[in-house]
Amino acid sequence: MTDGLVFSESPRALYVHIPFCSSKCFYCDFNSYVTTEAVRKAYVESLLNELTMVHNEYFGVGARPQLQTIFFGGGTPTLLTIDEFERIAKRLGELFVQTTETEWTIEANPASMSLKKAQALLHMGVNRISFGAQTFNETLLQVIGRLHDAADVEESVRIAHDVGFHRVNLDLMLGLPGQTLDDVDESVTRALQLGISHLSAYGLKVEENTPFAKWQKEGFLHLPKEELEVAMYEFVQTRLRASGFEQYEISNFALPGEEARHNLHYWKNKPYLAVGAGAHGYVHGLRYENERSLVKYEERIAQKVRPIAEAHVVSAEEAMEDTMMLGLRLQSGVSREEFRQLHGKELDDVFGPLIKSLCERGWLLQDHQRVWIPAQYNEVANEIFALFVGYL
Ligand code: SF4
Repeated sequence: MTDGLVFSESPRALYVHIPFCSSKCFYCDFNSYVTTEAVRKAYVESLLNELTMVHNEYFGVGARPQLQTIFFGGGTPTLLTIDEFERIAKRLGELFVQTTETEWTIEANPASMSLKKAQALLHMGVNRISFGAQTFNETLLQVIGRLHDAADVEESVRIAHDVGFHRVNLDLMLGLPGQTLDDVDESVTRALQLGISHLSAYGLKVEENTPFAKWQKEGFLHLPKEELEVAMYEFVQTRLRASGFEQYEISNFALPGEEARHNLHYWKNKPYLAVGAGAHGYVHGLRYENERSLVKYEERIAQKVRPIAEAHVVSAEEAMEDTMMLGLRLQSGVSREEFRQLHGKELDDVFGPLIKSLCERGWLLQDHQRVWIPAQYNEVANEIFALFVGYL
């Protein structure tokens, strides 16, 4: 055990997984299913029950703790009907206190957001929308199996702004098959023209058991060379900085004050609740993963037991390594004070020799307050993280 807060702090962030999509994108290995309305309805019932179970287990019946952030991810959460959203929002309101300060994000696919739905979400308290745009190039959208086109992205963001959402994120992907620097330029330009407050730029990873993995094995998937993908990433960094965005994490850029606070919980190694099929949570030193299969998930809930498929008790050493691995993703790095609060130890007493050797190599910088990766070494961040894993 540690004297810090890492295992005792109560979670103030909630992730809700909605595992439904209109079709599967060719690169996607997220836990999501193309299914019927009846299946979706049954899932929402189970989700409501799981919310109550999780709440009662960690806070006790009748308690109404305050949430700082809520994140509905998927899948495509906006495939839920307004009625289904309202039922979930009502249950959340019964179990937790949400204030005007609570950040409530919903992931949305551009083709799945109507004016009516956007209005209803805002009314329920959702105050941030994250659209999976991926690219504005029509051919590339088809190549990766997206159902929407670039005009859908523009229309969805316009709707979100018109109904009163001030915080809008777009996800873009880099390193897509056949993608060029000009494509990235066009996508970033069109994204910025929409007046968004946040942009995430992720490199494509070919995941097992996806059509992309199959096509790669068969030799049909032609991805840009590594140097080109690096050039795309650097282009995004430069363009966004020039437009007033700050890069605050390896893949994330925000206007000042518009960082995704929910994700900051993850990167600062803070606890978070998670509900839904395949959702991952971290509470009181236990990392858990729910059943991915909808059938198993619903069976467990019907038996009135938490639908946890796997759980792992995090040791004090592992928690400190996690704090480094996650925190170094942030451009601000790991705060010495926050490390002390979380783990009850001085950062240098735990990782001093490793930090010193990485600073000598130029891969890390440090001052009295924090330790961070200089922006030019973001591309070797995974190598740096690997040095912290298993160090203790
Ligand atoms: S919309 Fe998102 S979750 Fe659904 S298949 Fe595509 S990438 Fe996966």
